[in-house]
Amino acid sequence: MFPLTISLAAKLAAEFGGQINISYSGGASAHNVLAILKTGIAPVTMVTDLLKPGGYARLQQMAERVDAQPWPDWLQQNIDVNALQNLAESCLNDPYYQKERREVDSIKIKKSLPLFDCYLAPCQEACPIHQDVAAYIRLVEEGRYLDALRVIIETNPLPHITGYICDHQCMYHCTRWDYDDPVYIREMKKVAAEQAWNEFLRKYGDKLKPSKFNGIQVAIIGAGPSGLSAAYFLARSGFEVTVVEKEQQAGGVVRNVIPDFRLPQHAIDRDVELIQRHGVRFRFGVTDVTVQDLITEGFKYIFVAIGAGKSRKLQLNPANGMVLDALEFLHKYKQKKPLQLGEKVAVIGGGNSAMDAARAARRIPGVREVSIIYRRTREFMPADREELEAALQDGVQIKELLLPVALENGILTCQKMALGEKGSDGRRQVRPIDGAFETFQIDALISAIGEQVDKQFLQKNNLQIKNKNSKTWVLETNLPNVFIGGDALRGPSTVVESIADGKRAAEIIISKEKQNGHQPLKIQSLLDRETWTKDLQQRKGLVVPFEATDHHREAARCLACDVVCDKCIEVCPNRANMALPLINKDMFKDHAQILHIDGLCNECGNCETFCPYQGKPYEDKITLFWSKEDFDNSRNEGFLLVDQNNSLTFLVRFKGVTGHVILDRKGKLARSDWQENTVDFKALLTVMQEIVRNHAYLLLNN
Ligand code: SF4
Ligand code: SF4
Ligand code: SF4
Repeated sequence: MFPLTISLAAKLAAEFGGQINISYSGGASAHNVLAILKTGIAPVTMVTDLLKPGGYARLQQMAERVDAQPWPDWLQQNIDVNALQNLAESCLNDPYYQKERREVDSIKIKKSLPLFDCYLAPCQEACPIHQDVAAYIRLVEEGRYLDALRVIIETNPLPHITGYICDHQCMYHCTRWDYDDPVYIREMKKVAAEQAWNEFLRKYGDKLKPSKFNGIQVAIIGAGPSGLSAAYFLARSGFEVTVVEKEQQAGGVVRNVIPDFRLPQHAIDRDVELIQRHGVRFRFGVTDVTVQDLITEGFKYIFVAIGAGKSRKLQLNPANGMVLDALEFLHKYKQKKPLQLGEKVAVIGGGNSAMDAARAARRIPGVREVSIIYRRTREFMPADREELEAALQDGVQIKELLLPVALENGILTCQKMALGEKGSDGRRQVRPIDGAFETFQIDALISAIGEQVDKQFLQKNNLQIKNKNSKTWVLETNLPNVFIGGDALRGPSTVVESIADGKRAAEIIISKEKQNGHQPLKIQSLLDRETWTKDLQQRKGLVVPFEATDHHREAARCLACDVVCDKCIEVCPNRANMALPLINKDMFKDHAQILHIDGLCNECGNCETFCPYQGKPYEDKITLFWSKEDFDNSRNEGFLLVDQNNSLTFLVRFKGVTGHVILDRKGKLARSDWQENTVDFKALLTVMQEIVRNHAYLLLNN
């Protein structure tokens, strides 16, 4: 909105030679308020930004910024036309106003909004292994890297690897998207792991192995991320775990394919060491293992985690020329084998493997030009945005809407494509444009059109997957206690999804045996919650854009949304939501509960827009009504004071039932139509009592 409105202001000012008073509203924010005022425009009204999370608190930050200026021409009569025109022009190229800057439509997670205890960190929920992001970021902020690493490895056995290459779903759900930029969560993990590793080994390295194993032997076939993850969680719980791997080292695709410029070797080595130190044994170079061999050897459980390492074959007709498979190419590149690709290389595909292959090809002596050829447009590429950016920065060219069909005499022929309707995955489908082709002269072609599961192992071992339609990615096979999971079941996925699959496999085995020797880390005891909460309250509303170089500053940008949320309060134009402080640790997780005040709400829906859940705070939170008519017209769970002659009688809708609750004037329960000792009713009663005792001004009965 700002570029549009400021351009209009610039045109008006020019038309009147600057002799016009302009009162401005239209996209004014902390980012631009100074620049607007400096043109001589005043007053400035902030609306949109005010109704975003932290908007009211942000007024102070803006006022301080304005106040810090000398303002010689504060009340100048005329508009500085040149300054205004410059502002209107410069904002067109300012990344702050570009649509692409906001990479996400919504940070919402797939969960419905609970009646009570709703504070939640969407980043944690979006993470496949639900890492306690806010806690470890807080510890990084405090410079307590060792504790941060301990928090991370509570749920994540590959802290270094994920610190470098996780696809960070957490960041796509970060609350700070509604402020400025998401917290660079992955970097915080990397910082913690890198800074703390040596100290961690010194302090805990020899104490990680369980003092006593439970005697139950588990074999894991495949030392990729899901196999390593299962091994870690099982060993930590006291199981005797052996990982059988066909390569000479652990890590799978991460070790053998992902190039060093994206993931350094030491990150892989350290994570494997972490798992080894938990007592996991490895057998490397085993290419012919069978499930039956392992059963005969005495393994009670087997987890098949062989990954999805078979490349899909690119269909070219004819295919006369140098055609390489991306996985094989990257494997050779990683082993530093001599590769000759000529001068011009085409990489086919749009995923991370294509980006890796293209960037690796750029680094091969003799290669002058690398192009990625993709059948859709770049916005629909499955590759991470930052991998695409890195490829572009490396000088890789992107050629869109092209489908390779033939390679002959060094000429790659591509069918031109057009975007069609959206498919079930949300991406636009493509269709060929009749008779339209484009040709390129190339010396080598690298195919990176995806990987699939190699079914040979399953066939050789007569393994069949039961319940194929299940939505989980770890399943028992036709052989009892033999499980398959991770990429071997679902096809290629991300590292963190593989970790989640491995963890799931471990949980199934642990629950079957009802044995869990792991003592969970008491994360909350590491943090001074009171100081943390105070800090957060001061930070809310402040715009602090991302800055790559200072990780303390970056960590301090986290708003610890599971400690304090209150966004529905901040963004409500009518103050129709409030936080009732209810520090009752036995009853509630959160330090405050959200109360919706029906009589103040005009159902504008702004709270719904910013609430991280799928729900609507104005419908889903416990509601205080002010009139019988409003109560009857609503389906919200809540209460209305209907009589206050002697005691206080409330009409209540709760758990789908309408009835009465009677409290004495001090809030003590006299009678209720609900079972009084249920946890849910006690929560409701606590809220009502808090209002009667400390917020009686809210109670109206009409
Ligand atoms: S602000 Fe912090 S806690 Fe909230 S979503 Fe972002 S990283 Fe997570
Ligand atoms: S819907 Fe109601 S509670 Fe939500 S922001 Fe609008 S007025 Fe406030
Ligand atoms: S926006 Fe409000 S209702 Fe939604 S999670 Fe935050 S505090 Fe709860």
